[in-house]
Amino acid sequence: MGPKRELKFALESFWDKKSSAEDLEKVAADLRTSIWKQMAGAGIKYIPSNTFSYYDQVLDTTAMLGAVPPRYGWNGGEIGFDVYFSMARGNASVPAMEMTKWFDTNYHFIVPELGPDVHFSYASHKAVTEYKEAKALGVDTVPVLVGPVSYLLLSKPAKGVEKTFSLLSLLGKILPVYKEVISELKAAGASWIQFDEPTLVMDLDSHKLQAFTDAYSELESTLSGLNVLIETYFADVPAEAFKTLASLKGVTAYGFDLVRGTKTLDLIKSEFPKGKYLFAGVVDGRNIWANDLAASLSTLHELEGIVGKDKLVVSTSCSLLHTAVDLINETKLDKEIKSWLAFAAQKIVEVNALAKALAGEKDEAFFSANAAAQASRKSSPRVTNEAVQKAAAALRGSDHRRATNVSARLDAQQKKLNLPILPTTTIGSFPQTIELRRVRREYKAKKISEDDYIKAIKEEINKVVKLQEELDIDVLVHGEPERNDMVEYFGEQLSGFAFTVNGWVQSYGSRCVKPPIIYGDVSRPNPMTVFWSSTAQSMTARPMKGMLTGPVTILNWSFVRNDQPRFETCYQIALAIKDEVEDLEKAGINVIQIDEAALREGLPLRKSEQAFYLDWAVHSFRITNCGVQDTTQIHTHMCYSNFNDIIHSIIDMDADVITIENSRSDEKLLSVFREGVKYGAGIGPGVYDIHSPRIPSTEEIADRINKMLAVLEKNILWVNPDCGLKTRKYSEVKPALNNMVAAAKLLRTQL
Ligand code: GLN
Ligand code: ZN
Repeated sequence: MGPKRELKFALESFWDKKSSAEDLEKVAADLRTSIWKQMAGAGIKYIPSNTFSYYDQVLDTTAMLGAVPPRYGWNGGEIGFDVYFSMARGNASVPAMEMTKWFDTNYHFIVPELGPDVHFSYASHKAVTEYKEAKALGVDTVPVLVGPVSYLLLSKPAKGVEKTFSLLSLLGKILPVYKEVISELKAAGASWIQFDEPTLVMDLDSHKLQAFTDAYSELESTLSGLNVLIETYFADVPAEAFKTLASLKGVTAYGFDLVRGTKTLDLIKSEFPKGKYLFAGVVDGRNIWANDLAASLSTLHELEGIVGKDKLVVSTSCSLLHTAVDLINETKLDKEIKSWLAFAAQKIVEVNALAKALAGEKDEAFFSANAAAQASRKSSPRVTNEAVQKAAAALRGSDHRRATNVSARLDAQQKKLNLPILPTTTIGSFPQTIELRRVRREYKAKKISEDDYIKAIKEEINKVVKLQEELDIDVLVHGEPERNDMVEYFGEQLSGFAFTVNGWVQSYGSRCVKPPIIYGDVSRPNPMTVFWSSTAQSMTARPMKGMLTGPVTILNWSFVRNDQPRFETCYQIALAIKDEVEDLEKAGINVIQIDEAALREGLPLRKSEQAFYLDWAVHSFRITNCGVQDTTQIHTHMCYSNFNDIIHSIIDMDADVITIENSRSDEKLLSVFREGVKYGAGIGPGVYDIHSPRIPSTEEIADRINKMLAVLEKNILWVNPDCGLKTRKYSEVKPALNNMVAAAKLLRTQL
């Protein structure tokens, strides 16, 4: 995206037709040049190219292979912006292709749709063009391609052949295009090539592993004369996959993530193939912490003994796409905290320093400054809070859950809340107007007084409350006008968190997020939401939902400290949220929603690690609310419909009501219940899609609810949209909610 999100702004201006394709290409070329030069300047020897993307690298591969779904009307020839961005974002007549998370990162890729009829052809020469572009600048690069097997394994079968089609059967059809690309790269002067095959860290069966063997055997002759690097990352490589990798034909180098893949280190020690290069990923590409150079150097020395001095390459653990760009732009960050950090620009300096040290040219000053920073981080009083450490440690191993079971609690709550059947509610946020954003910005910049700010937010809440009363919604929300972001808002009020100004990471397309940095023990000095929630409750006789972000979501959407296990940090956040829940209850809030939008995405890639994660994640959630009375109703919300595989963990969260994103995949979600999963708590599968400006009709919503009623008991069903309304306009929200309430009322008369 660039150090100041230059690509984001160039893309959005191009999409808005405020600038030309040439303008966009110029920004892109400047970014590539500066990155290549920066790496060359830092002493990096193997500099990647074809890592730049206008949207997403998997989509770039789809373009390279000419695998454009027919609905985008591509007629052959080199794929240009038109077709490319239509696939990414949709156009006036066709929606975008599906997007999904890239492994366990917050980056989303465009999922290739492949069926038996796709005709592959070499339709984007980007890899070669970029290689030549760098070469013209005097930088000889290693072109990076998404490997053919991972590409197919990350694809989905096209419509109509979902159940029957084997994606791997296309291998023989895509390899000819890969061969053309490889030959052109060779002709252009490339001496190295990198294939990213990260699916190798998943639990693949032998049939899938065989595809790697087949693919690289088939490519062997075309690859001859090149050094070929296969990169894996994000987790340990399973032993079987390691064996497959080690025996691949035509491959001369392997890259491993040695930060997350500590067991891979053992495999390397016992069975690394002789004479091959090892790209040792010792510098964490997924985080923002400075490397412990002394520790890395000792690992590298050990590896050197195994693979040989001339075959060991120092590397980051994965691409630097998932970390922030450059610490130099963080002028507001505390000096001590800053000394503990390394963003992408600093990580390449670390890589070079380690390589130099291995070559006997250790920069003593750099290493001792690093050691001093590591020591200051270990001993800094701002990191450690004894009381928090103790309280969190006491949670481990013990169980926390509410004393009464959910059906008894729901009865007690109903006596107090007296809700109609099919109660209506929303997920929390209401539209964030330009005016509202301005008020928050001016308050932050101290341009308006606290009194004026409070007054403005109160007015906004009042507007939202009145609107919900007019719409006749049953359980109200305050609309979250005081929040910029559901994690940042809490992070700013908790201790142990730091914030960057430019620490952006790409989420999808031009969208970036700025994760907070959790650097120390987490505690809650003061109540965070009680003032606004009780203010909102005082404006209405209807129940007002308190609105919190849950510990697992705060954890998963932050840069997390690496000096203690993730669960430890999560328990600390859980204790802070628990204090908030109890204060809300004391202030008379009877319904409290604790969002766990990101619970599913934190699921580890390897099956063997999933049960442990789910156990502490669900435990953390329960800790937040195990102390409330039976009459206090705890809601949670999740932004992930595909949770069939974790349904039992979700039930184990023991919330009274769960609302879930669903409207784009009714069937998937409901099938779990059809298959007989016992679910006794309240449940609100979203009845319409808030990600689209479309206004659903009453009939359509009623129809949806009827489908749900076919598999779920009528007394547990809630009616709500599928996520917060923050990004919508009032002109969309009002009629949509109006129809939603009308549908609920219509069905109540029929039940
Ligand atoms: N309460 C949040 C909102 O409505 C939930 C957002 C989310 O699930 N991503 O905005
Ligand atoms: Zn959501």
